Amino acid sequence: MPRSPGVLERTSTCLLAVGLPSTGGLAHDRTRPWIVPDAVCWLRRDLRLDDNEALAAAIDHASDAQLLVLYVIDPHLWSRSGDPRRVFLLRALSSLRESLDGRLAIRVGDPTSVVGDSAGGAPVFCAEDFAPYGRQRDAAVAASGVDLRPTGSAYAVAPGTVMSGSGTPYKVFTPFSRAWAAFGWSSPVRSATALASAKLVDAKQQDALPESPDIGSLRLPPASESAALEVFAEFKKHRLVDYVEARNMPGVEGTSRLSAALRWGLVHPRTLLAQLGDSKAESVFRSELAWREFYADVLFHNPSSAREDLTATLANLDYDSGAVAEKRFEAWCNGATGYPIVDAGMRQLLAEGFMHNRVRMIVASFLVKDLHLHWSRGARWFMKHLVDGDLASNQHGWQWTAGTGTDAAPYFRVFNPVSQGKKFDPDAVYVKRWVPELAHLPANLAHEPWLADGAVSNASLFAAEAKAYPSPIVDHADERRETLRRYELARRA
Ligand code: FAD
Repeated sequence: MPRSPGVLERTSTCLLAVGLPSTGGLAHDRTRPWIVPDAVCWLRRDLRLDDNEALAAAIDHASDAQLLVLYVIDPHLWSRSGDPRRVFLLRALSSLRESLDGRLAIRVGDPTSVVGDSAGGAPVFCAEDFAPYGRQRDAAVAASGVDLRPTGSAYAVAPGTVMSGSGTPYKVFTPFSRAWAAFGWSSPVRSATALASAKLVDAKQQDALPESPDIGSLRLPPASESAALEVFAEFKKHRLVDYVEARNMPGVEGTSRLSAALRWGLVHPRTLLAQLGDSKAESVFRSELAWREFYADVLFHNPSSAREDLTATLANLDYDSGAVAEKRFEAWCNGATGYPIVDAGMRQLLAEGFMHNRVRMIVASFLVKDLHLHWSRGARWFMKHLVDGDLASNQHGWQWTAGTGTDAAPYFRVFNPVSQGKKFDPDAVYVKRWVPELAHLPANLAHEPWLADGAVSNASLFAAEAKAYPSPIVDHADERRETLRRYELARRA
C-alpha cells in the first residue's frame, strides 16, 4: 500500500538500510548503519553544496576524518507542507544525493531524537534557523545533549542583526534596506571546493524518501543547485536589464523565478548579491532580495506575527463570516470571482505553485478588501499551494496588503482589480493565458468582460465566448466603500 504523504511515522530506525558499509576498522555503533562521524552537517533550508557556511565549517572540523551530511524529514514540517513543496523537497534531496554520489543520509523522524542518534556525540553544524518553529526545534535538539553549532543562515545578513540607531528593530522597509546594505555581507564561501577533499560517511544504502505525492500536471521549477545557478545566469544575461519595468508585468517573463530556489537554499542570496553591480536594474533586484531579509527580521522580532496581526490598529476590524462569505472564499480559491486578473493569478497558483508578485498583491487585496476576509485565510491557502511558500515572506506579504503589517500608509490602499489589470497587463497576455474563456476578447474588455455586450461590433460572438466565465461575485466600487467604512470604524475603536 502506498504510504500517505501526509503521515510520516516518527521513528529513528526507519532508514531502509539494506546492508552495512564497511567501517574500515573505525568505530561503529550497532544502532546506526554507518560509522560514528567526527562531524555532522545537518542541512535544512540549505540544500546546496556551494556557498554553504555550515558545510564549510563541518568539513573544516572533520579535517581528514569522517563527515556525515544529514537531512532529517521532520513529520511536523512535512504534515504542514502542501504537496507542491513536498514534491519539490523530494526532488531537491534526490538531486543533492546524486551530487554527493549517494553520500547524503536522509532520515525521517523527530529531529530531537534523530539528530543526536545520527551524530553519536559528534558536533553538528547547521545554518541557524530564525523562524519560530525552527528556533524551538533547535533549542530542543541542543537541550537533548547534541553539540549543535549554528553557523551562517539563509540570509545575507542574519535576522536580528540590523538595528536602528536607537537599538530597536526596524518596522519599515526603506530604512531597514539602507541599514542592511550599509551593514554588508561576506563573499561566497567555497564549500564545494573544500568538499572535494572531505571524507564523507557512506550513506548510500538507505532509502528513507517517503512516497512522492501525486501533483498531476502541476509544473514545478527545477529543483537542483546547478539549475538554480543556471536560472540566475540566464536571468542576469537576458532579463535583468529590463527588470525595473518588466518585474511588474505578469504577462512578461520579467523576474528571476528564483523564489523556490531561495526558499530551499538551492542558492544562497550572497551568491546572487556577489554578482550584482550598481546599475539601476541591479539595485532594484538587490532591493527585492532585501524584502526577503526584512520580513525574516520582522518575524524574528515578532514570532506571533506568523498567525496574528503585527499591529493592533485594525484589531477591531469587522470581517465577514457565514455561508455567503464561504462561497466567496471558495470562488477566490478556484479562480472564479469574475475579476479576470484575480482569477488568472489564482489559476496560475494552482497550475504552477507560483504567482507573479504584482498579482499576489492584487489577489490578496481582493480577499481582504473586497471579500472582507481575514488575511490569514488567504495566507494559509498560499502556503498550501506555493512551492516558494515561506512563513516570513508570505505572512508579511499578506499583512502588508491587509494593512495590519509593515506598510506605512496601508488601510486606504484598495487595489482596483480592473485598473491594476489594465495597467500591468495592458495586452491581457497574462489574463488570456490563465483564463482562456476570455481569449477572444480585445485586451481592454478582457479585464472587464461584463462590458463586452454592445461595446464591440460583433458583441454577440464575444458574449458567447465569454459565457462560461462567471459574473463578478461582488461589486468592487461598493466593497471598496464598505472596506473604508469598516476601517474607519476599527481605527476609531
Ligand atoms: P524576483 O522579482 O526575481 O525577486 C528576487 C527574489 O527576491 C525573490 O525570489 C524573493 O526571494 C525576493 N523577493 C522579491 N519580492 C519580495 C517580496 N515582496 N517579499 C519578500 N521577498 C521578495 N515570496 C516568497 O518567497 N515566498 C512566499 O511565500 C511569498 N508570499 C507572498 C505573499 C504575498 C501576499 C505577497 C504580496 C508576496 C509574497 N512573496 C513571497 C513575495 C514575492 O511575491 C515573491 O518572492 C516573488 O513573486 C517571487 O518571484 P521571483 O523569484 O521571480 O521574484
